[in-house]
Amino acid sequence: MSDCIFCKIVTGEIPCYKIYEDEKYLAFLDIYPWTEGHTLVIPKQHVEWVWDYPELGEYFEVVGKIARHYREISKDIVRSNIDGWQVQHAHIHLKIGKLSDLNPKQGDPDILKSTMEKYRL
Ligand code: AMP
Ligand code: ZN
Repeated sequence: MSDCIFCKIVTGEIPCYKIYEDEKYLAFLDIYPWTEGHTLVIPKQHVEWVWDYPELGEYFEVVGKIARHYREISKDIVRSNIDGWQVQHAHIHLKIGKLSDLNPKQGDPDILKSTMEKYRL
C-alpha cells in the first residue's frame, strides 16, 4: 500500500530501529515508546487488521520468539497488546518491564539505537 507508513518501513523508504527480520515478518522499535524496548511486530504483507492475516499461527510464533528473547535478556515481564488506533497495517505491540509511560514522547535516537543493539535478534 503506497500511503501506508509501515509498508514504507518494510521497503526501507522510512528508516526504523530494526529488531528482527525474515522473509515475511519485521519487528522494529516504536519511536514513541511506552516502555523500554517497545516493539511493533508486523507481517510484511499489508493487511489492515491482525485478524485479516492468513497465517495467524505463524505470525504469533514470531511474536512469541521475540517476546521470549526479550524476557531472557531483560529478566523482566513482557506485555503485549493489539490496538490499531493510529496505523492500519497489522501490528502487535511488545512492551518490556513494569513501568509504562502513558504519555509517551518521541524516543531519544541514541537510546533507541542502544536499545536496538541490546535486544535485536
Ligand atoms: P496503534 O495504531 O494505536 O497500535 O499505534 C501505532 C504505533 O505506531 C504507535 O505506538 C506509534 O508510536 C507507532 N509508530 C508510528 N509511526 C512509527 C514509525 N515511523 N516508527 C516506529 N513506530 C511508529
Ligand atoms: Zn502497510
